[in-house]
Amino acid sequence: MDMKTTMDVRRRLPAVDTLLAHPAVETARQHYGHRLIRRAVRQALDQARQRLAADPVAGSMLEADALAEATLARLAELTRPAARAVFNLTGTVIHTNLGRSTLAEAAIDAMTDAARHPVALEYDLEDGGRGDRDRLVEGLLCELTGAEAATVVNNNAAAVLLALGALGAGREALISRGELIEIGGAFRMPDIMQAAGCRLREVGATNRTHARDFESAIGEHTGLIVKAHTSNYAITGFTSSVPESQLAEIAHARGIALLIDLGSGALTDFTALGLPYEAQPGDAISAGADVVTFSGDKLLGGPQAGIIVGRREAIATIKRHPLKRALRLDKLTLAALEATLRLYRDSDAPERAIPSLALLTRPEAEIAATGERLLPRVSALLSDFEVTLTPCASQLGSGSLPVDRLPSRALAWRPTVSARRDRERCLRRLEGALRRLPRPVIGRISDGTLLLDLRCLATASDEAAFVDQLAELPAGYGATDRQDAGGSL
Ligand SMILES: *Cc1c(COP(=O)(O)O)cnc(C)c1O
Repeated sequence: MDMKTTMDVRRRLPAVDTLLAHPAVETARQHYGHRLIRRAVRQALDQARQRLAADPVAGSMLEADALAEATLARLAELTRPAARAVFNLTGTVIHTNLGRSTLAEAAIDAMTDAARHPVALEYDLEDGGRGDRDRLVEGLLCELTGAEAATVVNNNAAAVLLALGALGAGREALISRGELIEIGGAFRMPDIMQAAGCRLREVGATNRTHARDFESAIGEHTGLIVKAHTSNYAITGFTSSVPESQLAEIAHARGIALLIDLGSGALTDFTALGLPYEAQPGDAISAGADVVTFSGDKLLGGPQAGIIVGRREAIATIKRHPLKRALRLDKLTLAALEATLRLYRDSDAPERAIPSLALLTRPEAEIAATGERLLPRVSALLSDFEVTLTPCASQLGSGSLPVDRLPSRALAWRPTVSARRDRERCLRRLEGALRRLPRPVIGRISDGTLLLDLRCLATASDEAAFVDQLAELPAGYGATDRQDAGGSL
């Protein structure tokens, strides 16, 4: 077909107003409004124009019904939030890239209330004067950790930055060589120290650091000793580190502060829940730390926040630092954090009320039962795969407890094609198709299978929603198909 014919075909596309008058589009307009529908119509026409440019005989693109359908598809895309809900079936319970902890109902209610109404954020309801927003959570944090004072900021990285800047700027910060941590997403202790204006001084060796290493390193320029929880790795074998209580003694004998970055920080005894031991901020406070920092959204199971607890004077110094204002929490987060902390203080079973804890302690038999219910419903769904229910191991995630695993069950999808290269292609296509579902399903590929760890598919409504949308998966994944499954348009 020559250039002129191509132009003719494309010119036969209807005008925006004509497509707007199509009954299906008009019905959608009544619901979504003119502005959004117009945008969807334009995008659908642009898309058709591009398709026709590439393939001038794609005449079906010109039909009014096809264009109306394309408009509704664009509309669905335009109204779908970017921060949309997904199914986290990766097996990593507190997944940083998937937003870490989901919140307790009480925290969600508190958050929506605070979003809907003015709240007494920095307003003292007793005397009508100006208040301090930290007061919303400070009492709870002190009660839960035994600390004298507390303050909160945007995240734990901010908490460490602020505490270092307030207590150690222009001075040396001593830290064991075994604890120069890097957390995913570019949190590196040496860089944070530099940004805070501290001079890093490493002591000891990677695997062993002794009390005398710290004692001999302290000089007139030393501002503080820092201890960082090695969240995402473990040093095992011939190792030695200085206990927190001894570090506190060494620091206080020389008039400097001890700062402990706990990373996660559990507010309840994990071993009592049948989980691996995790350090609690209260223990670090009893050991004599001046300042302890930890995340709100890791093992605590609350909103993203950086929590700083410790001695009154140290916290007061931190609160006076100009960065405190730059890193402060908003009312929504404060409301969610307060509600979560209340559950730790007041609930008979925080491990049931706080979703992260509930998922981590979910009984293996219950996960297996979910699998038994799902298996018959998914096994015949896709012709190119065989599905089994297999034991697997979930991780806690977010750099928490790196070496520990929780026994779980996964749906395992194994391609039935024989050539290895084709199998890999099949798996990647299925992984992609699952990601493109209305509520994307995120699994992981391991050892020639796509694993969907069922630990985090824990409610009846999620289970039903998961199964229902699987019907939308394209049927074929065989390596001979030219087009990638689900990848059209
Ligand atoms: C996770 C972690 C951080 C960073 O905390 P965010 O809340 O992600 O900012 C800092 N230090 C340690 C030891 C951590 O585990």
